[in-house]
Amino acid sequence: MAIRKIITAPHPVLRGKAKKVTAFDEELHTLIDDLIETMQQAPGVGLAAPQVDVPLSVFVAEFGDPDDEDAPLQLYVVVNPKITKTSKETESGVEGCLSIPKVVGEVIRPYAVTVEGHDRDGNPLAIEAEGWLARIFQHETDHLHGVLFTDHALRVWEPEVDVGQVSSAD
Ligand code: ZN
Repeated sequence: MAIRKIITAPHPVLRGKAKKVTAFDEELHTLIDDLIETMQQAPGVGLAAPQVDVPLSVFVAEFGDPDDEDAPLQLYVVVNPKITKTSKETESGVEGCLSIPKVVGEVIRPYAVTVEGHDRDGNPLAIEAEGWLARIFQHETDHLHGVLFTDHALRVWEPEVDVGQVSSAD
């Protein structure tokens, strides 16, 4: 495993469309392990492959139960993710991004989503998520389409206090 360099806007790879993964091989597994390690070291709650300059459709996320700080973090790996269901209900939240350092923005997104894709071995998976986890999945899936949170944000600002990586940074 290795820490990879996180690229930042306006790097063109962040604006490209990621390619579908077709080979669930060792190279993919190395990429996934590196994404996890890089995300944890940043630290962030999510990381998409284009953010480490690899234009492939895969993201990782790690998130705990917001109502129980003793609960262990849950790790998610989604290859070829597709959001197949979104709630009508929306929610506003403040997002950050490891590829857009030092700014955060207010983004309104569906409150709940279903993400379908594959696990690291190519088995189909579907995850229903709500709240912050749903937000992370949408933010990461956007990265695979060349979309950044600042594209959706109602407003973007530099936090006055250096909060390091905000808990929402991905
Ligand atoms: Zn991001």
